[in-house]
Amino acid sequence: MSGGKVYLVGSGPGDPGLLTRRAWGLLESADAVLHDSLVGDDVLDQLPEPVEVVDVGKRPPDRTSQSEINDMLVDRSRDGEAVVRLKGGDPHVFGRGGEEAQYLADADVPFEVVPGVSSAVAAPGVAGIPLTHRDCASSVTVITGHETPDKDESALDWDALADTVVSGGTLVVLMGVRRLSNNVAALREHGVPAETPVAMVQKATWGDERTVSATLATIEDAKEEAGIEPPAVTVVGDVVGVRSETSEWLDR
Ligand code: SAH
Repeated sequence: MSGGKVYLVGSGPGDPGLLTRRAWGLLESADAVLHDSLVGDDVLDQLPEPVEVVDVGKRPPDRTSQSEINDMLVDRSRDGEAVVRLKGGDPHVFGRGGEEAQYLADADVPFEVVPGVSSAVAAPGVAGIPLTHRDCASSVTVITGHETPDKDESALDWDALADTVVSGGTLVVLMGVRRLSNNVAALREHGVPAETPVAMVQKATWGDERTVSATLATIEDAKEEAGIEPPAVTVVGDVVGVRSETSEWLDR
C-alpha cells in the first residue's frame, strides 16, 4: 500500500468474512478509513488501533456532502496519507464510486478500485435465490428503487423492465423499501402479472437478516407484516420460487 493514494474499496454486504483479502490488507495498513453508513460495525470493530476511522455516511443533518468527501480524499492523499474509501457492497454499484474516481482523476490523485461483493448478488444468494437459472432466468437487471426526487420523469424504462420480467429475466431492486408500492404499481401497469414471485431480503449477512417471499400482488402486505426495513434487496422473477426448494438447508 502506498501513501498519497486513495483506495476505493468495497466492504461486501456486512459479514467481515465476505471482505476480500485485498480489502483486509488495505484496511489493516491504511492511515485513514472513510466509510459509509452501510459498512457493518463487525468490520469497523476489527480495524487496528492506529487507523483513523471517519464516518462520512451519517444521516442528515450531520451528513458529509459528496463534495466534502471528495475534498477530504484529495487533501488527505496530498498530505501523503494512504486513504481507504470504504463503501458497502461494491463501490461501483450505486455507491458513487464512479463519481469519486472521476474527481480523483481530475485532481491527478492516484487511486485504485478494489471490488466488493455487492448486496445485489449477495442478498439473493444467502437467501437461496439464484439470480440466473437454466430453467427460468437467463438475464439479470439491477435497478435503483429510489430515484432522485427532482426528476420529472422516471429515468427507468418501465416498459423495458416489465418486458424483461415477463420474458423470464430477474429484476433486482436496491434502495426500494420505501417506494415498494410505486415500483410494484409501475410493474403491474406495464403488464407484469400479479402472481409473479417477489422476495425481499433485509440486512443480508447481518445478525437480523430476514427474507419474505410473496407475489407482486401480496408483497406490500407481506413487507408490512414482517416489518421489513432498509437496507433490503427486492428480487422479482421466477427464480424466487427456487428458494422454497433450498431454504430449509440454508437457514442461517
Ligand atoms: N454499493 C452497495 C449498494 C449501495 S445502495 C452494494 O453494492 O451493495 C444501498 C442499497 O444496497 C440498500 O438500500 C439496499 O438495497 C442494498 N443493501 C446494501 N447492503 C445490504 C444488505 N446487507 N442487505 C440487504 N440489502 C443491502
